[in-house]
Amino acid sequence: MTPLPFARPFIGREEEDAVLRVLRSGWLTTGKEALSFEQEFADFLNRGKTDGQVQALAVNSATSGLHLVLEALGVGQGDVVLVPPLTFASTAEVARYLGAEIAFVDVEPGDFCIAPMRLRQTLCHLRSGKGAYGEYGPRGTPKVVIPVHYGGMPCAMDEILDIAHELNVAVLEDAAHCFPSFLPDGRAAGTLGDAGVFSFYATKTITTGEGGMVVSRNQALIQRISTMRLHGIDRPAWNRYTDVRGSWYYEIIEAGYKYNLPDILAALGRVQLSRAFDLLAMRRRLAGIYDAGFSGHPALEIPPVNSACAYHLYPLRVKDSATRNRLIDALQQEGIGVSVHFIPLHTMPYYRRRYNLSADFFPAAMDAFSREISLPLWPGMTDEDAARVIAAVTNFAF
Ligand SMILES: *Cc1c(COP(=O)(O)O)cnc(C)c1O
Repeated sequence: MTPLPFARPFIGREEEDAVLRVLRSGWLTTGKEALSFEQEFADFLNRGKTDGQVQALAVNSATSGLHLVLEALGVGQGDVVLVPPLTFASTAEVARYLGAEIAFVDVEPGDFCIAPMRLRQTLCHLRSGKGAYGEYGPRGTPKVVIPVHYGGMPCAMDEILDIAHELNVAVLEDAAHCFPSFLPDGRAAGTLGDAGVFSFYATKTITTGEGGMVVSRNQALIQRISTMRLHGIDRPAWNRYTDVRGSWYYEIIEAGYKYNLPDILAALGRVQLSRAFDLLAMRRRLAGIYDAGFSGHPALEIPPVNSACAYHLYPLRVKDSATRNRLIDALQQEGIGVSVHFIPLHTMPYYRRRYNLSADFFPAAMDAFSREISLPLWPGMTDEDAARVIAAVTNFAF
């Protein structure tokens, strides 16, 4: 039987042509394609808005973008960054790059996004000089919270923003899963906090193979990130009529990073961006087929969605972890690629050791992890592919 992959990028003739155009142009690294991609991405998010527009900066991964934002927000030793445990490695490791400590905040059992009440509790502990979890956990100044829009469902951002404002922490949205996503009032996920970061990794909703985008409406932040993204190089504005220095002149104002997105990849991204709503429609339609196939099944819970969902994942839930593991084996036997999002970070050896955490510290994240199975969901999957997955799941002996 033919294998059905868990994910597969949607790459057409237009993507091939765009990459060839750059290859033949003589300019491969960051240049005018990257600039156009940034402008088009920002326009896409700002659609219909006349105020509070975001600017966008292309980077070589979402991980780089998260790192750059935390750096620009001044995160360092003595600071605490708050993240949900149910996320990918990137969300937390970037704070450790800068010497800050991690406080995990459990998720909501419903949407698997960071729980606002838990966030408030953890922030209050830290603000009163206690450990993040009361007597326990890292101490320090809470600086930034990073909500992760799990699977493409935006977090409860209004509540999170209120809490962050009241308790004085910045909000960095990890929108790696969440593009495109517009709330009913027209605001886009990723543009709601102080900054947002999107991923164009090969499995994400639009892709450049590897890549990412940082968005913010904070000018100072954008300025700092754009400098640090490429070696901390600043091209000082000078009067070109009176200054003798030419276009070759630059100054290194900080020890920066090498996080730029090459034009080959930016050209790919521009085409993918132009398809974003079509790709979303394909994902949404397939998720609807899954929903219809699974709803009413006594052993299954279908994922919650709303009109803003970007459908990056189809995170089906089963009744317990033993069943979940057996179901994974059964689907793999039938050649169906599946995954689990995520093994909670607080159970990973590095974080467990560093913060002396046990698995039961974050029960909602553990419950989510133990019962979740991500099914194949990608544009280009056929109705027959979806029917095959539904049959394999519903024929399984729960
Ligand atoms: C994929 C992912 C990232 C990292 O994206 P890269 O572009 O691969 O660096 C960050 N956070 C989450 C939640 C992700 O799923």
